[in-house]
Amino acid sequence: MRHLVWFRNDLRVADNPALHAAVNEGERVQAVYIDCPEQWREHGNSPIQRDFLEQSLQALSEQLAELGVAFDVLVCDRFDEVPNVLAAWIGEHDIDALYANRDIGINERRRDKAVQQTLTIPCRVYNGDCVMSHGSITTQSGDMYKVFTPYSKAWLSALKAQGYRLLSVPEAAGERCTPSVVSLTGDKKDSSVWPAGEQAAHQILERFCAESLLDYGEQRDFPAAEGTSRLSPYLALGVLSPNQCLAAIESELGFLPFGKGEKGFVWLNEIIWREFYRHLLVAFPGLSMNRAFKPETEALQWSRDQKAFTAWCEGQTGYPIVDAAMRCLRETGWMHNRLRMIVASFLTKDLHINWQRGEAWFMANLIDGELAANNGGWQWAAGTGADAAPYFRVFNPVTQSERFDPNGNFIRQWVPELAEVPGKHIHAPHHWLRQRRREQDYVPPMVDHGKARLHAIAMFDALKDEEES
Ligand code: FAD
Repeated sequence: MRHLVWFRNDLRVADNPALHAAVNEGERVQAVYIDCPEQWREHGNSPIQRDFLEQSLQALSEQLAELGVAFDVLVCDRFDEVPNVLAAWIGEHDIDALYANRDIGINERRRDKAVQQTLTIPCRVYNGDCVMSHGSITTQSGDMYKVFTPYSKAWLSALKAQGYRLLSVPEAAGERCTPSVVSLTGDKKDSSVWPAGEQAAHQILERFCAESLLDYGEQRDFPAAEGTSRLSPYLALGVLSPNQCLAAIESELGFLPFGKGEKGFVWLNEIIWREFYRHLLVAFPGLSMNRAFKPETEALQWSRDQKAFTAWCEGQTGYPIVDAAMRCLRETGWMHNRLRMIVASFLTKDLHINWQRGEAWFMANLIDGELAANNGGWQWAAGTGADAAPYFRVFNPVTQSERFDPNGNFIRQWVPELAEVPGKHIHAPHHWLRQRRREQDYVPPMVDHGKARLHAIAMFDALKDEEES
């Protein structure tokens, strides 16, 4: 039997259910990735992620060659061409069955449905992107949870009851073959500070668990510290699986933490957040189609101020923590989670600009851009999403900065015009600059946070009034 593995967001050979099954059940195994550059552009993914994708595919190709699995990158512009391209390739190579791991965006699901309708061979689909398969964590009435805490409790109970399944690298399917040279077209931005491939990802994971897992709860909110794993680019493309993260926690601690207060739990909880947003995306397809999770918030009257949006993108808002974060994103393609929350709150609640514009900007710049987490994070910050917190939660960019970048080290790294401002004044430096007649050193704050906050609350209050009238 000749089997084909179709790689998508699962660019790894270890803990890959589709590859594992294809090798175990077949005599000969081949693999493809189908690149759709036009679809990539339409989805708005970033040039740095495209470069990282190319490097990750290259690393995958080399690992597959070791396993005797020949790997091809097929190209067609858009997803709607995939069924025919794949059918033609399968016909030429005399394939008996197709193996793939589930993909979750709505366009990806439509593509996969069309592929299944077009192909005449069996298509076997596996859960490869989450510890708990989609649709398995539900309320008693079988619905998807709409808030995180009860979801995470149910998720942890399921983990306790059934554990997780970690698959090893499959046995070689044949003689070592020659790896393909992967070259993707389109805009690319150098991603080499993120070493590509599974081996690199595992080194980062192991190092994080050995050195930072226990301190994660205390360190994770400080952008100047190396307190988080920085594994998101690998998890986003499936170079690493969440099961492997669980296994690394278990191997480090000797147990899996199941509750608040237990060592290592805070990091495990982030893996659960990741699953929550992925499960939501599958349960609520509207999320893939620019819809707000809370439909009533689609009536919010957002500002269309293009100049304000540009100032936010360029890190010229006059709020140092926001500017440092936005400049860091543009330059490196990555942003710390605390900063993502601060800048997302600033765009939506201080500038009153639609979260969808921020979501798209993040996607266009992030190396870890990923629809479920990005959409979930933006809607959470904007008050339109799956969140138990009230809409009047508005982050204060100055007090956030004082708490999470207390000495201003992160700000100084990215806003060099504030290099000489003492830590005490760096979070709101204008008064200090004015006293020294140096106002021109740094842009003035583009909004008054207090007033902007009240305006944001009024925008949400207006929704209630509309509902009541
Ligand atoms: P760690 O703190 O080490 O966490 C480990 C892993 O857990 C992460 O790599 C990630 O896969 C997952 N994770 C952590 N926090 C979250 C979260 N809040 N939601 C979902 N998964 C989480 N994450 C992305 O991977 N891609 C995105 O496009 C993305 N966009 C975001 C947009 C906004 C507005 C916000 C507030 C958050 C966004 N996140 C996104 C979530 C989070 O900021 C990043 O996953 C995290 O900063 C990555 O750093 P890390 O790998 O060091 O994470």
